[in-house]
Amino acid sequence: MEMIARVTLEIAVGREFDYRVPENLTNAVFIGSRVKVPFGARRLMGVVTGLAERSERRNLLDLLSVVGRENLVTPKVLSLARWMAEYYCCPAEIALKSVLPDAVRGEKEGWREQLFVRALPQPSGETPKLSARQKALWQTIRERHEMPLQEFIQTMSTTAKTVRRLEDKGLVTIAPRVLDRDPFAHETILPTQKLALNEAQKAALERIVQACDDDDSGQRTFLLHGVTGSGKTEVYLQAIEHCLSQGKGAIVLVPEISLTPQTVERFKARFSAGPWRTLTAVLHSRLSAGERHDEWHKIRQGRARIVIGARSAVFAPVHPLGLVIVDEEHESSYKQEEAPRYHARDVAVLRAHREQAIAVLGSATPSMESYYHAQRGKYQLLELPRRADAKTLPLVRVIDMRTTARKEKGVSIFSPKLKEAIDARLQAGEQTMLFLNRRGYSASLQCPLCGYVAGCPHCSISLTYHRQAGQLRCHVCGHAEPAPQVCPQPSCQNPQIRFAGIGTQRVEETLRKLFPKARVQRMDSDVLKRKEDYRRILHAFRLGKIDILLGTQMIAKGLHFPNVTLVGIIYADLSLHFPDFRAGERTFQLLTQVAGRAGRGDVEGEVFVQALTPFHPAIQYSRQHDYIGFYEQEIEFRQELGYPPIQRLCALTLRGRNEDKTRLAAEHLKKTIQKNLADFGGLILAGPAPATLLRAEDFFRYQLSLRTNRMAALSKRLQTIIQETPLPEDIRLSIDVDPAHL
Ligand code: ADP
Ligand code: ZN
Repeated sequence: MEMIARVTLEIAVGREFDYRVPENLTNAVFIGSRVKVPFGARRLMGVVTGLAERSERRNLLDLLSVVGRENLVTPKVLSLARWMAEYYCCPAEIALKSVLPDAVRGEKEGWREQLFVRALPQPSGETPKLSARQKALWQTIRERHEMPLQEFIQTMSTTAKTVRRLEDKGLVTIAPRVLDRDPFAHETILPTQKLALNEAQKAALERIVQACDDDDSGQRTFLLHGVTGSGKTEVYLQAIEHCLSQGKGAIVLVPEISLTPQTVERFKARFSAGPWRTLTAVLHSRLSAGERHDEWHKIRQGRARIVIGARSAVFAPVHPLGLVIVDEEHESSYKQEEAPRYHARDVAVLRAHREQAIAVLGSATPSMESYYHAQRGKYQLLELPRRADAKTLPLVRVIDMRTTARKEKGVSIFSPKLKEAIDARLQAGEQTMLFLNRRGYSASLQCPLCGYVAGCPHCSISLTYHRQAGQLRCHVCGHAEPAPQVCPQPSCQNPQIRFAGIGTQRVEETLRKLFPKARVQRMDSDVLKRKEDYRRILHAFRLGKIDILLGTQMIAKGLHFPNVTLVGIIYADLSLHFPDFRAGERTFQLLTQVAGRAGRGDVEGEVFVQALTPFHPAIQYSRQHDYIGFYEQEIEFRQELGYPPIQRLCALTLRGRNEDKTRLAAEHLKKTIQKNLADFGGLILAGPAPATLLRAEDFFRYQLSLRTNRMAALSKRLQTIIQETPLPEDIRLSIDVDPAHL
């Protein structure tokens, strides 16, 4: 009997190829194996995505070799990739790439061997004679004990030859070492014991545990709705413990942005000791390729049975899988913005279902989708209505900035009330967090005389002023140009061109003027240049070395600082007037999350929300911490317009350099879809409309949107239609099923 391997190749060709498995390899080839195959004159890497006994093709070529000792994708994850390709309408090899990170897909084994310099112990006081330069090197290495040779050479601006001299003198050794790269290697984490749960936590845990034990219970997806600080994490921890005791592993998804050392430590601290002791692997985008490779293998080898990670950790090769937790399940960052455009929360639910595992989605402000499913019995609702630490939720005050603007004749940053509140905190030695969802100095450059706005020459959005660089930058395509000194409009030339709108940098400057003695720190992606910056700033804030922390959404999530008693939201409106049907939901979530940062210690917290539209429901309901109230009015609006979660949505975006051509192509595609899907009941087809950013990176974009409550069926049909509808050569089409933004 022959053995045929179906191989999906690295190159994007959208189909599988059959190869004969030579006899000597039959025991080494499995679904998920990485293999090398001949392809024309080339040799390519691929993944075995199927095995068969015969092929429709004749004269098959032989597989050349199997790469790596282990197959890195489990067959179950592989079938998940197949489902993704179908549901999200993307080629199989693209879906495959996302389930297997680059770092482990490559041909090399990837374990890192590196040269290390290590100090040798010296009999006291008998250091050999050294030059001043050598002495400095020796001092450093003695303090650090050991470090990678390359790093040593770089930080000390020296050469390998000089270091070799120290070796000759018997002060150091230089030797290769295999590194198990552990981003937490230098931390000592104190183990924690489980807490005695309160009634609500107990009830929630019990139902999760029951579902874990009961194999054929229908209740396998839970929505844990718990206010900020209600102790959701403790429920996760104890659910995981139960799962470990059954010999199964767990995946914990958190948004990239809240994947902080703090979060990770809470898990490591619980499971690095004790009866179910296991490694906790961490996966996120800031890992180096090498670190990622090591974490991945720790999981594959079963050394780590808990994985904490962002979006793509949903594919981690945990086996057997008992539990998938999606914390802050409402976060839009779970949706991948490039193909495959999957939503990690939805994939998590599906994966758990397929592997007889339990899924727990947690949030203080559940997505409309998840709460809707819970209302209809598709998910089981678990509620933690109160803070676990018996602290009250912070008092939220909404400040009408129109009044301040009128009084001060222009856009101002701090209302008198917020100013006073900050001052009071400074006097009391308490900390303040200020939040503004826009980086840079000001949003746009606008002339108050003629109304001129500096726009990006490639995209239809305004440029952002970055003061330190003295530049205008486009946040879509990265275009940068020097900021003008006078209004560039030839008829105007106003030297007092004003910076309308505000960004974090301008807030920082104003703060420094208002409170010259305060220690102010800004935190946004412009400040965070290096991997450690984020950690360093938070650490300093925790130690009380910063009075006022000012930042973008980066500081909104999951952080816990007992001494923060004041949170200020500079402009709550910024996210509200986005042209997207989820703008209200986003704003509600954001305000609730940010407010949750206040009063996590002994002193009651206070939140100031400054807004130009203070009576908007998203602002008012979040002020009252009223999720249900918000949900009910919002679902009505979605119902009226047939938006998700009532209907599912799919966006087709066409991009082209020529606007007319792009619009025509969109119209043509619309007609084709209409004709082919005439029998598809309940389909709503809208567009073509110019996309929000009509001209992004010199491309014009037009969008069609489809709404249905049978998305899986629609995806299948769409894929065929699109394959059979040739587009003009220079027009590109992307398909986004369940888009996060419109
Ligand atoms: P959430 O994840 O819901 O925001 P956390 O898990 O961070 O909430 O819990 C908030 C605080 O309450 C933490 O300091 C946590 O240690 C504490 N906490 C959680 N559960 C309990 C409990 N059962 N008893 C006492 N303190 C608890
Ligand atoms: Zn641009």
